[in-house]
Amino acid sequence: MRYLVLTDIHANLEALDACLADATTRRYGASVVLGDLVGYGADPNVVIERIQALAPVAIVRGNHDKVACGLEQAEGFNAVAKSAVYWTLDTLTPANRSWLANLPEGPTTVDDVVEICHGSPFDEDAYIFDELDAVRALKASTRPLCLFGHTHYPAAFELADGTVDSLGRSTAPEAHLPLRDGAKYLVNPGSVGQPRDGDPRAAYAIVDTDAMDVELIRLEYPIARAQSKVMKAGLPEMLAQRLSVGR
Ligand code: ZN
Repeated sequence: MRYLVLTDIHANLEALDACLADATTRRYGASVVLGDLVGYGADPNVVIERIQALAPVAIVRGNHDKVACGLEQAEGFNAVAKSAVYWTLDTLTPANRSWLANLPEGPTTVDDVVEICHGSPFDEDAYIFDELDAVRALKASTRPLCLFGHTHYPAAFELADGTVDSLGRSTAPEAHLPLRDGAKYLVNPGSVGQPRDGDPRAAYAIVDTDAMDVELIRLEYPIARAQSKVMKAGLPEMLAQRLSVGR
């Protein structure tokens, strides 16, 4: 199976549409979504409807999704995130709010090879940044490949012969990560709608479980259009500015 992998879309419709169009040319048979569909961006309702139309075979909720539908308070959020998430709560249609509220908590197994989660397989809200975080996550993961999001940083970790290594990150529009027999992997494709690794291009992945290969893709999208929608919506200006720098 070839899976389209989307995470941290954050209501950025322009970035999502660019990824969907690009993914169509690469072909995929099913999709998986790792949470944070909304929060920060100006198009929460349309983004949710795009994902519903995709009919992902597996989807988990993110921390922004939980607050945006009223399941949780924005206690751990900074002022900008808080104001965006409350704007989202007001903007969502009742139907989309209740759809978000019913998204499952990760981790979720997809098949014999793939498992998905938002933050980590042991805690949906935990962040995986370095090898130390990855060790615990790799132990908790029940599949050869665990896909995660939440940090908005593309990352890949490999557990082979008892050692965990962080695999180098590429800036190419497309990079391949072959999955070796007997090893375990933890892969974050990076954020569709709000990259924070200093690269403003949208990020997503395609996982091929027959070829045992992960394609990590970066792609340009109409950033200026997404920014002007953020400003028009009255969302904090910083949320528009950061899209240009990918921070
Ligand atoms: Zn996020």
